Amino acid sequence: MKLIRINHHCYYFQGAVNIGYVCDGEVGILIDAGLDQGAMRKVLNQLDQERLPLTHLLITHAHADHYGGAAYLQNKRNIYTMAPVLEEAILRNPVLEPIYLFQGNWPTLDMRNKFLEGEAIRIDEVVSEGVWDIQGIQINSIALPGHSYYQLGYQIHDVLYAGDAFFGRETLQKHKIPYLVDADQTLQTLKCLLEWPVKRAVPGHGAYEEDAEELIRQNIAWHQRVLESMEDVIKNAPDGLSHEQLVREMCTRWEIETSRLSSWVLYRTAITGYLLKLVKDEKAVLSIQRHALWIAPYEKRTV
Ligand SMILES: [Zn+2]
Repeated sequence: MKLIRINHHCYYFQGAVNIGYVCDGEVGILIDAGLDQGAMRKVLNQLDQERLPLTHLLITHAHADHYGGAAYLQNKRNIYTMAPVLEEAILRNPVLEPIYLFQGNWPTLDMRNKFLEGEAIRIDEVVSEGVWDIQGIQINSIALPGHSYYQLGYQIHDVLYAGDAFFGRETLQKHKIPYLVDADQTLQTLKCLLEWPVKRAVPGHGAYEEDAEELIRQNIAWHQRVLESMEDVIKNAPDGLSHEQLVREMCTRWEIETSRLSSWVLYRTAITGYLLKLVKDEKAVLSIQRHALWIAPYEKRTV
């Protein structure tokens, strides 16, 4: 984890998952906590070396790679922890993530790994969109739903810590079908970010952008390509296809490797998140056929 300084107050620890850091006087705020104890230990060592303060933790969303280091942090330091509504419920009960990814069933043991389930943490304050302050430091928090349910981005001192609202180019190329729970909300969030006055941004995965506009546009184009390819799959199935077949077709087209259950459930959720946008846009229709969730082109709907 390399500590990178953006301006007088704003920094981030660059890693597979970025951790934001802002300090002002005696106040030091971390934005997200990384995947695990190892990542957090490196963060604490560097803050100590630089004699930088640490008093608060702000969580953007309840994905284990963004909060997995928080339990260790809470054990080691006296830290005031804040998280968005609903995400906070998962942070306090982390088994909820493998539960929802497993469609409500109690998850199998191989799903209960550190990538899907971190250690439970204490939440001192539930926060929502709007302007508020931490001991005089103004936090402009912006709702960024789509990648997760109630994700918040935090703009502090002219830098937006954007969570996973958009990804760096390498991350898009690596994941191919990016994780989301709702593609429609994801696209609305990205359009809203294009209008947002501050363009200096730290994404959760990828490098800091002095002007994130181009990257946001690339993310929009990427989501649209995924949607177009899904529309094509659905059009090419004259009698429709099952949800399971749709997942298989999409993963095949995008050359995605899904040999592990814990990775497949993430793709299944993301693919369903895109499918729901096609349903909303009246490009696909859902029904139950042959004891399966069935997807057909909108023109083939039975009235
Ligand atoms: Zn995430």
